[in-house]
Amino acid sequence: MEYSYIDLHCDTLAEALMKSSSTAEVLSGTMADVRRLREAGAAAQFFAMFLPQNRTAGWFEGEEQPAPEELLHGMYQIYCRTMEECSDMIAPARNDRELAANRRQGKISAFLTIENGFLVRGSMEKIREFYDMGVRLVTLTWNDPNCFGFCHSNDPEEMARGLTDFGKEAVSYMQELGMLVDVSHLSDGGFWDVAGIAGRTGKPFVASHSNCRALAPATRNLTDEMIRALAERGGVAGLNFEPTFLNADQSDRFSRVDRMCDHVMHLIDKGGIECAAIGTDFDGISGTFEIKDCTGMPLLFAALRRRGLSEDAVWKIAYGNAARVIRETM
Ligand SMILES: [Zn+2]
Repeated sequence: MEYSYIDLHCDTLAEALMKSSSTAEVLSGTMADVRRLREAGAAAQFFAMFLPQNRTAGWFEGEEQPAPEELLHGMYQIYCRTMEECSDMIAPARNDRELAANRRQGKISAFLTIENGFLVRGSMEKIREFYDMGVRLVTLTWNDPNCFGFCHSNDPEEMARGLTDFGKEAVSYMQELGMLVDVSHLSDGGFWDVAGIAGRTGKPFVASHSNCRALAPATRNLTDEMIRALAERGGVAGLNFEPTFLNADQSDRFSRVDRMCDHVMHLIDKGGIECAAIGTDFDGISGTFEIKDCTGMPLLFAALRRRGLSEDAVWKIAYGNAARVIRETM
């Protein structure tokens, strides 16, 4: 049974690039591709152009890593060719009107995002350029500090450091433009800087693929205080399927649907039903998975119903909350 949903994060474009595939229509050995997203009933998929910043960050192991500009270009080409060659199944979306139009035509909406904004290199013009390319969400940092600010860290001093002066200005500018600001991977200090700015502008922000730190102690997850602040500003957290972001025992590499439900219930308990969404992180995670690829998504929604959530509540988690944030920000 298919169930319409919005997924706020996947790294499938990066996978496609590594496989030297020209489109994301059919990708063997991945967790998502266009054909399977259609089978899964996806209404929208956010496709990240992931940028490794530190040259030792593991991509193209044993080989000289291409320049980040080249990687970005490669993923963008795959995105564009996929939109052309699979136009009967999927179409670009840059706002809620395009999301609605694509739905009416029975097509998946493809939102383009950047994971790690370091290529902005402290330039507002560069942000505008990305916007003009169709990018509608920027995950400010990855696992290194950059021009926006500091990233999540086990070092409490690093974790407390926030946005740079440029980062603060850039967040306001992105909100003005209609780009969604994503705090996943950001330091706690950075989270609170974004929350402060969003409090003044009245525009929501998101943690596109982060879970609850109270249930899994990963620095990538949100504290209860953060969940409340995110919810107060109308934002959402996207449920991430990575085992270490789900499990209390960080050595437990099994990603279970039941544990996903625990995180969703905790988000609802701390932030209310409006703040829970989906951000699978497909093709950016590793371990053993009960939901092995996007066609397994109905297992999650069925499990949430078994937890006693109403049809309306499950719809909000799967679709409604993310759609609201798109409407209010883009
Ligand atoms: Zn990520």
